[in-house]
Amino acid sequence: MTHLISKKLVLFSAFCILLSSCGSLQSNTSPQRPATESSSAVNNTTSEPITNTNSSEPNQIEDPVANDEPETNLNEAPEIKYHINKAYRVVPNEEGTEKQVVLLTFDDGPKEQDMINGLLDTLEKHQAKAIFFVNGYRVKANPDLLQQIHDRGQIIGNHSWDHIDLKNETSESARKQVEDVQQIVEDTIGERPRFFRPPFGSGNDNLHKIADDNDLIYMTWSNGSLDWDASTKNKPEAVIQNVMDQLHNGSNILMHELPWTVEALDEMLTKLEEKGYSFVDPRSISDAPAEQ
Ligand SMILES: [Zn+2]
Repeated sequence: MTHLISKKLVLFSAFCILLSSCGSLQSNTSPQRPATESSSAVNNTTSEPITNTNSSEPNQIEDPVANDEPETNLNEAPEIKYHINKAYRVVPNEEGTEKQVVLLTFDDGPKEQDMINGLLDTLEKHQAKAIFFVNGYRVKANPDLLQQIHDRGQIIGNHSWDHIDLKNETSESARKQVEDVQQIVEDTIGERPRFFRPPFGSGNDNLHKIADDNDLIYMTWSNGSLDWDASTKNKPEAVIQNVMDQLHNGSNILMHELPWTVEALDEMLTKLEEKGYSFVDPRSISDAPAEQ
């Protein structure tokens, strides 16, 4: 009898070890199954619903439509939190909103595929949004580039049709310079620009009224990279230095679609991040609150 019991115990132990090792193998191949489930056949049976629940996690990751985490939806329009003040800086509408932000802008394009690729790749690397202030005659020549900028989640601004000094134009001519760009951008990407920057930052009351009539937010800049100037030609380090020297909360940074700016951008954005600045999403900028 004793012999029989001990024989049963040996068999039972062997059975347990066998189950245990099978369970270990199972848990190695199914990482979502908790390790404790492998210790008995009974638990393996009851664990089925838990395994099914867990298996829905990988499905969500595989299917971006099912995953609505904010950080994965970079193109979802953000809350309106900022406005452009009279000094053309970006300022929060309310106390408590992050002030240490910069607005990135690129004027005078779209010109060339390689430069657009470079700017868009670097902006995406830093999860940054920018305004591309475009000229109508360039959009007409490169509608596909405008479409790419838009499709990759960047924002299109109006920089007049011909890049002329609008202060010297008649009221009718200045209006046409602005409104023809509104039209060609809408015809190309299906949306009208919300931001306007006059060429050379040169404007007058009439131009402000034209912008207002077109629901455009008017701005020049508050931090000039001088990337258009001969002093920075082929000198990405000089472009970065100019921006860092003028850095302030709400810096509205003027840059252009130029090869040395494309080259400078990655390091510039890294330096801004290291100093604690974040990149304001232009879509979170609207008109100044009524009380200001
Ligand atoms: Zn310009």
